[in-house]
Order: sequence, then C-alpha cells, then structure tokens
Amino acid sequence: MFSILVSFRVKRPGSAIAVSPVAAVSQRVIPGNTSSGPASHRCLRAIGPLAFLLILLAALGLTACGGSSSSSTSTTTTTTTSGTPDARADAMLAQMTQAEKLQMVQGGVTTNLTYGYTVPLGAAGWVPANTRLGIPALYLADGSVGVGNGVGPATALPSSIASAASWDTNEATKYGTIIGSELADYGINVNLGGNINLVGREPRDGRTFETKGEDPILAGKITAAHINAIQAQHIVGGIKHFAFNDQESGRTTANVIIDERSGRESDLLAFEIGVKDSNVQSVMCSYNLTNGQYDCENSHLLNDVLKTGWSFPGFVMSDWWATHTTSTAAVNGLDQEQPNQQFFATLGQAVTSGQVPQSRLDNMVHRILRAMYEVGIFDNPQKIQAIPAAADAAVAQDIEEQGAVLLKNAASQLPLNGSTVQSIAVIGSHADVAVLSGGGSAQVQPIGGTLTGGEPCPPCWATVTWDLSSPLAAIKAKAPNAKVQFADGSNASAAATLAASSQVAIVFVSQWASEGMDQPSLSLTDLTSTTPINQDALVEAVVAANPHTIVVVESGSAILMPWLGQVSAVLEAWYPGQNGGPAIADLLFGVTNPSGKLPITFPASEAQLPRPVVPQPPDGVTPFAVNYTEGYNVGYKWYDVNGYTPLFPFGYGLSYTTFTMTNAALVNNLTPSTNPNFQVTFKLANTGSVAGAEVAQVYLGLPASTNEPPKRLVGWQKVLLQPGASQTVTIEVDENDSSHPLSYWNTSTSSWTVAPGNYTVYLGNSSNTAGLTTVGTFTM
Ligand code: BGC
Repeated sequence: MFSILVSFRVKRPGSAIAVSPVAAVSQRVIPGNTSSGPASHRCLRAIGPLAFLLILLAALGLTACGGSSSSSTSTTTTTTTSGTPDARADAMLAQMTQAEKLQMVQGGVTTNLTYGYTVPLGAAGWVPANTRLGIPALYLADGSVGVGNGVGPATALPSSIASAASWDTNEATKYGTIIGSELADYGINVNLGGNINLVGREPRDGRTFETKGEDPILAGKITAAHINAIQAQHIVGGIKHFAFNDQESGRTTANVIIDERSGRESDLLAFEIGVKDSNVQSVMCSYNLTNGQYDCENSHLLNDVLKTGWSFPGFVMSDWWATHTTSTAAVNGLDQEQPNQQFFATLGQAVTSGQVPQSRLDNMVHRILRAMYEVGIFDNPQKIQAIPAAADAAVAQDIEEQGAVLLKNAASQLPLNGSTVQSIAVIGSHADVAVLSGGGSAQVQPIGGTLTGGEPCPPCWATVTWDLSSPLAAIKAKAPNAKVQFADGSNASAAATLAASSQVAIVFVSQWASEGMDQPSLSLTDLTSTTPINQDALVEAVVAANPHTIVVVESGSAILMPWLGQVSAVLEAWYPGQNGGPAIADLLFGVTNPSGKLPITFPASEAQLPRPVVPQPPDGVTPFAVNYTEGYNVGYKWYDVNGYTPLFPFGYGLSYTTFTMTNAALVNNLTPSTNPNFQVTFKLANTGSVAGAEVAQVYLGLPASTNEPPKRLVGWQKVLLQPGASQTVTIEVDENDSSHPLSYWNTSTSSWTVAPGNYTVYLGNSSNTAGLTTVGTFTM
C-alpha cells in the first residue's frame, strides 16, 4: 500500500515511522546487491537537534561514529593560509604525524558492517577532523539529482539525464549550483555525484537516470558544468564510477573486457572531458573489474590513464566497500578507502614493511589536502543554514521544462488550449498527486514530501518514492473551465470509459528504476503497484477509446512504445523532480515550448542492443566476463554501423515551432598539424508562430582508414529564437579541445592522432543520417 506524507517517511526494517523535516532520526539506504555484492547497508542519519549535537561533536573533533580525530593531543598553529593548493598541501603534510596521515586516507566509519552505521550530518561517509592541525572534517554525501536521502529534505531535481537532455551547459550550471549550495547549507563538503557511466551500452542499467546519456562529448560537457558549479560552492566535486560500471546486474563482479582504443574513445573519453573541463578533485573508482583487475586497484586506469595521462591532481576514493586489498590498492592508485578502513587499517604496517613506499602515502594525503585547498574548504568554514527552498524549486522546474523531450505530436495535438479544451481525462501513475523518482543512493527526499510504497526485489533495499507534485492539479489550473477527471489506471476499461467521454486523454506511464538492479526489460514493467498494471495495455485501451491520447512518460531511460503509431503525442518527462507536475502542465499547454533532445537512442527493440540480454552473474563472488564487443561504437554509433533504425535517434526532439538551417558553410578550415580546427556557420530561423529553442548539432565523419563509425557528434549549440527571427550561428570544432574531436586513439603511439584523409562535416537537429545536411569536406 502507498501512503502519503507531507514531510518524508523513513522505513526501518519492521517499522514505519513518520517524521517531520525539522526533527528526525532516520535511515539512509545505500547500495549493495542482495544477490551479488555487498549486502545492503543503512546509515543512521540525523537532522534537527540531533544533527546539531553531531555537528558540534564533529566540530570539536570528537567522534560521533567512532574513529579518532587525531593521534596527537598537542595543538599547533598552522601557517598554510596562502600559496597554491599544492604548496599549502605540502606545508600541511610536513606537519603531520604518520597516524594523522593514515587517518586522512580512511573512511571514519569504524565498523565493517554494511548495514546500520552512523555518520554525522547524515552523510554517506566521513573523515574526522584533525583539531591539532586545524584540518576540517570531510563529510561525503550523495548528490546526483539533488542532495542525498540521508542528509535531509532537499530540492529533488529532475534526473541528471534530463539535465543532459537540455543540451545546455548553462542549464547544467544551474543544476550543479543547486546541488552544491544545498550540500553546503547542510554542512557537507564532498559530493558523491558526477555519474558519467555511458549507458548507451546498456540502457536497461538501473542508474541511467543518474547519467548524462550515451555520447562521451555531451556527457562529458554536461558533467563538467555540474562539477564546476558544485566546486564553486566550496564542495569537493566527484566524478564516478571510474570506469565501465555500465550495468547493475552483478556490479561487484562484472569483469568488463574492452580493448584500449575502444575504452579511450568511449567511456574513458567521457571521464577525460569531465575531469579536464572541470578540475574535479575526486574520482570514485567502481565496483567492477576491467580486463581482470578490480577498478579500485587497477593501476592502468588509476595511474596510467587518470593520474599520469590526464594529470588528475585530486584523490581517488573507493566506491563503498569496493576496496579489495591494502598494498596493491594503495600502490595501484587508490587514495582513500570508503566508508571505513577494512583494508587501509593496515596501511601503516604496509608502509613500515616497505610494501607501500612512504612517498606513496604522502602523495595520497597530499592529493586529499590539495583538493580541500583547491575548492576552498579551509578558507570557507562550514556554515549550516536553511536552504532557499522556494527559489531552488523554481530552478528545478525550469530545468525540467528545458529537458523534457517531445517525441511525437501528430496533427499538432499539443499544445493544449487551456481556454477551449472542454474535458480532459488524466490517467495513471499517481498523476493525481505525484511524479516518480529514481531509487538508490541518488534518492532525494523532496521538500514537499513523498508518496512511498514498496521495496522491489531486486534491489530489495530501495523504496519506491514519488515526489509530491500533482500533474492533475497543474493541468486543472491551466484549463480552469474544463472538466478534468482522474482514473488511476488500475482498471483499463474504466480508464477507457473516462477517455471516451473526454475530449482529450493524457496517460501517464512510468518505469521505476534504481541502483542495485537493472530494468527487467525496456518494455514498461510496473514494479511499483501491489497489483502490477500492464501500462502498454492501458495506453492501447485508452487510445482505442479516444484517438486524442497524449502519453507522458516518467522514466530514467529509453522505453519501448508498442502503441506509438496510435497515440497523438508523446512527451518524455524523465523523472521530472519535485516540481514535475507544474513543469509537465507548462509543456502540455505551451507555456513552455519543449526544446529537449534525447541524450540516448531509444531502440526499436531489445534485439538492436549490443547485448540483447543483460549478462548475469553466476553467483555473488565469481567474476564474470561482460564483453564489450561493440567497442567504441556506443549508442547511435552502434545503430549507424549496423544500419539499424531506432524508435527515436539520439539528438531527437520536437518543438511547437519549426526551424530551418540554411546557408550552411564550412569556414576558416584551418588544418595545421598544431591546431586543426574548423567552424560551421549557418542561418537558423524560427519559421513558426511561437518562440522556441533549437539544438543545432554538428557531426563529423572521419577517413575510412580509421575504421570509425560513420559519424560522431563534435559540437552543438542551443539557440532560442522568437517567431520569425533568425540568427547566424557559428559552431567551432577545435582539435585541442578535451574531446579530441578529429582524432582516433592510436594504439601504436598511445596517443590521440589525426589521421590523414577526408573528413565530412554534417549539420542537423538529430543524429538521424537522413536528416543531416553535408556542410562540406576537408582533407588532412
Ligand atoms: C554507490 C555510489 C554512492 C555510494 C555512497 C555506492 O553504493 O555506487 O554511487 O556514492 O554508494 O552512497
């Protein structure tokens, strides 16, 4: 059964308690995979009076969760107030005892339990303060789609994939600013966000909603914008899960097999852009193995690629319980074990015995300290205050309105006219009261409260959570004279009867997804109702009764749409966040003109996927191979190479207006070996009758000798135009960008290389080849 709470509800095993946002002791639920991987764990969190006590204890350097604040009791005045982050880190390091150094590289949780540990401020992990030297405590909390569950009520943003669907780094900056500033308001100073795993390989991945889609450049640029904004709030930003953590099934034992070039040009390229464009200060290594080596002790990934290759200056922390050894992990590049010290408790002995050089321990500590100096943790003391909830909610709504994607709009069914529409049937997915959110460590407890119900198994520990925001009420407000009625969708014929007697039917379909599980399939599967609703049959029954049927999809990833040919309109709203109701109504009634574009391909069937069936673990302990035979052909590249026609292509999205792109030209085609670059200019015009934004996309075909897919995204620009207006747009593509737009990864030289030969430049508004204009060619 579902229950509605105006604040938020926390469920403990065997009990259910309602709590208010101002005085609560509740539980944080974190990962694990009940069938394989670390067991589920929960962390007691506290806000209100208890939080105050914990903050006080932490500020005093006392231990609320075990662990010690310092191995020394004498106090010193440190003199590291100026200089570069590296210089200040070195100055601090020089004053530290060995025990103090060791404390910095371990999580402060003192139990090995994966269930039921306590961290101050409701964080997922922490490193206690060093009061002798004045090193602040680190509080690590999730924040992929808003401040993580355990910390306290916060703004539930639309899912990260919606942020990517805006194709707008300014919108992404707003997204990161909300996360960073609200974390800071709660006293948290390290964000466990930046999920950039490339889901185009596996759109059934239960964490797709946390990611930024299938293209390394789009994902990298959007993630970098998030992280820059988060770090501007004096929070150590994070990027995760490094690397190839692309499925949740057997995530702790999946052994990804991929060749070097394929890795560099796909998942690793997304990380490379994210790291280089944001100056991110922490990277979380992932649970899985890559080419036979656990990622948190994968020297190639951590040392060769990340630290040496990309000059990453910050620290690598383990995903929760993803550490497997002491010396090997430390030597191979892990800088901090989280959330406890199961393996790094013996790091001191490993240094004494010479297995781990002292210089390596010093480097680990240096990296953590320099990250703290870099983002300003030392210079900007923790300041806990109320979050500006109303202002942030408005931003959340704006982000949703920029990220929702209009997929179909036959005969201009949308936008609805609020003054002329007579009757509307609103059907399904609790649209009378709420919108869906994704589960797992990214779960946010929205300010406005939740509707909760059930813990599907798998993952068996994440509660289905709907954000209280009523599409029905928002639709009624937009059509005050219309008869607007609701059917919950549990009875398809009752819904069809209501639809038949209404002018328009709006069916809300939803697909819950969570960390710790993959979607059972891309077909809508109701995991949230006690008696599951066949949502495809529901849509079919409704559209049979009323052809003016609009489908609003609340999902974290692609879904299949067997009814697509029959319905009038489809709006992909993703998980729309705590202001989803009004945002969806604004889009349906044309208050906002949709401008989102898909950051992932929607397949026509699962048979089109590189792996039609998600590889499953044999058990919870034995590594099992997941062969990335598609190599670097991820997402639309895979469809291009195989000649598959998807349901909807990457980059696709409709508008209530129309655009033209004319006079496209390749200009300033400079091809010196030092800095190959080119620009595409064209005239973009809004030829319709309402204002709208178009995302112009530039794709590049590389010489055949490179064996690259037919095209890759190399640049884009989102432009807002008034009706009848036009603008000359220039999109610049520069090989010196972190995305290496003209290069392939050359395994003989281990470097990005521009191949000699012919390059073709395309312009369009999606990756659909048939819709692209060839702007020109050039030869290198
Ligand atoms: C997840 C991470 C998360 C961490 C702490 C892990 O299980 O994979 O993404 O940051 O838990 O909550």
